[in-house]
Amino acid sequence: MNSKSNPLSLDELSQLSQPRDTNPLTFKKWFTNIWETFRSVTTGLGITMKYVTSVKPVTIEYPEVREVLPDTSRSRLFNDVDNCISCFQCANVCPVDCIYIAAVRRDKEAPKLKTDGGNPIKLDLIQYTIDTALCCYCGLCTTVCPTGCITHTTDYEYSQYTVDQMKYDYLDEEVRAWKSRLIK
Ligand code: SF4
Ligand code: SF4
Repeated sequence: MNSKSNPLSLDELSQLSQPRDTNPLTFKKWFTNIWETFRSVTTGLGITMKYVTSVKPVTIEYPEVREVLPDTSRSRLFNDVDNCISCFQCANVCPVDCIYIAAVRRDKEAPKLKTDGGNPIKLDLIQYTIDTALCCYCGLCTTVCPTGCITHTTDYEYSQYTVDQMKYDYLDEEVRAWKSRLIK
C-alpha cells in the first residue's frame, strides 16, 4: 500500500524554520537588561575613576622631571685622567676590550707628578678612550683601578645618533668637563 503524505505548505515550512521563542521579552526582562547594562558600565567607570584619582602615577614628565638614580648605579663611565697612572689594568680586565689606552714614559727632566692619592705618575697618558657602545657596564674596570680614577656615574643621558659617537676620548676637554657635572 502506498502511504504518500501530503506536502507541507509554504506557510507551514516558514514557521518550522523560525527559532521558537521560548523566552519572550517581558517588561520585567527589558527592565532587568537595562539595569544590568547600567550597573556594568558604572562599575567599570568606578574602577577607572579610582585609578585616576587615587593611584600614584608610574610615569614622570621627562625631561622636566628626572629620576635620581642611586649612587651605586652603573651608568656612564668617567675617567678623571689627571689621576690615571696608565697601568692598563682596566683595559686588561675589560671583558669586551672596549678601553683603548696609549701612554709613553715621562721625560726624566719633566716635573714629578703624583695622583691625588700620592701615586707617582711615571707615564704620560696620550690616549684614553672607551667605546661605550661596546661596554656592558660590568664595573670591573672601576674595581681594579688602583687610583679609583675611573668610576661609574649616575648619568644616563648620553644617547647619540651614531655608534661612532659613543666612543669617548677622556683627554678631550669637553669630556673632561663632565667631572664638574658627574662626580659626587
Ligand atoms: S664597565 Fe666593564 S665592559 Fe665597560 S669598560 Fe668597564 S670593564 Fe669594560
Ligand atoms: S686602571 Fe685606573 S689608573 Fe690604571 S689605566 Fe685604568 S683608569 Fe688609569
